[in-house]
Amino acid sequence: MSYVLSGQTGDWEVVIGLEVHAQIISKSKLFSGAPTAYGAEPNTQVSLVDAAMPGMLPVINEYCIEQAVRTGLGLRAKINLTSVFDRKNYFYADLPQGYQISQLYHPIVGEGTVVLDLADGTTREVGIERLHMEQDAGKSLHDQDPKRSFIDLNRSGTALMEIVSRPDLKSPEDVGAYLRKLRSILRYLGTCDGNMDEGSMRCDVNVSVRKVGETGLRNRAEVKNVNSVRFAMQAVEIEARRQIGVYEDGGQVVQETRLFDSVKGETRTMRSKEQAHDYRYFPDPDLLPLVITQDYVDAIKATLPELPDERKRRYMGDFGLSSYDAGVLVAERRTAQYFEEVAAGHDAKLAANWVITNLFAVLKDKGVGIAESPVAASALSKLLDLLKDGTISGRIAKDVFEIMVETGQDPAAIVEEKGLRQITDTGAIEAAIDQVIADNPAQVEQFRSGNEKIIGWFVGQVMKSTGGKANPGVLNKLLREKLKG
Ligand code: MN
Repeated sequence: MSYVLSGQTGDWEVVIGLEVHAQIISKSKLFSGAPTAYGAEPNTQVSLVDAAMPGMLPVINEYCIEQAVRTGLGLRAKINLTSVFDRKNYFYADLPQGYQISQLYHPIVGEGTVVLDLADGTTREVGIERLHMEQDAGKSLHDQDPKRSFIDLNRSGTALMEIVSRPDLKSPEDVGAYLRKLRSILRYLGTCDGNMDEGSMRCDVNVSVRKVGETGLRNRAEVKNVNSVRFAMQAVEIEARRQIGVYEDGGQVVQETRLFDSVKGETRTMRSKEQAHDYRYFPDPDLLPLVITQDYVDAIKATLPELPDERKRRYMGDFGLSSYDAGVLVAERRTAQYFEEVAAGHDAKLAANWVITNLFAVLKDKGVGIAESPVAASALSKLLDLLKDGTISGRIAKDVFEIMVETGQDPAAIVEEKGLRQITDTGAIEAAIDQVIADNPAQVEQFRSGNEKIIGWFVGQVMKSTGGKANPGVLNKLLREKLKG
């Protein structure tokens, strides 16, 4: 399934690479001891280093190194035992140092891989080019006063990982799948919370287009600071169509940086694309090269959790789940934990079905995540117990589940209180069948003259008269016997 945009001069394909800035989960900043908690009052989390007071010296936060290495291992990437911090020089009001400390020439992490889980259940590998550590800048606040702008340095010096993909993405769907998967991996690792709405994961989208069949790459535009998965997908589509329009009008796409306006649904020129040499990068003389050992890397590797891809393989292998179902369940660690708690002691496919179909519908309806689920995993597991031991039928289980959602009650208590226990007593079911047969001679005649399908109608009638509690297996067997007379 390739993504092709048709224009007046033929079919076009899109080439996309992403640069993701992921804020490292760490109590303090990359080169200072100032705290990093989100949402603090402006300028309350600023050390002298973050404010770039003369003579202050950066001191590397070892925990951030560990987090970057952990992330590199999670991306199955090469870890570079020697990396170097460089100064990227530019002027901006929210960058008091006049430069950002980053890693250009020798990043801490080299080439790796992210596996996309696509909507049709297939997977595809996307190359990671590099991951480097760098400082975040402060924030300019333009909406506090009609005439003045303010600077908040709380974010200044916060540790970021910039994760650069290869231009292996081909469609908005790929972009969505990549961002979701990357976020999932970072969350499993505990190295970034992935909250795009709080800005702790931000993404720059590099887009170019070319005619189907062309092999070279044309000029690309970099769409900056897109802050949701949906916006990233929209930005790709909008920017690709703009570029196609430029070419088809006989123009040339210029290499530049653009911004995405989600309200107007357009991208606009921000500045012409700068090159690395514009920033006058040079090794930061205040920092020694960062040297780590293979033992250090191995020790971190030993503490990695089971990651989404491995977990998915386990669900497919041990539980026999489909690629799609397994992918959905492992995407969030909490969802996977919830599922495993429900599935313990039960048929895994049945448990998966309840979580994906019934529970997800409720969560979507209420607009909450699995952590706020109105039905606890232990309660859903108890519901499956009642199904398994024949206390209730699958049909009644759905009713009980609805009541659980509304009241938070225990399923067994609901079954007792509402008298929903399944009737397995053959005598009681037989009596109900006899009554329905006696009351509907015309339908009985239809069955006997060959209309087999009408049996469904009889099942419905008996279910109705027993309040839906007749054991479906017993009912079907008895009904057939009795109708055949
Ligand atoms: Mn960057």
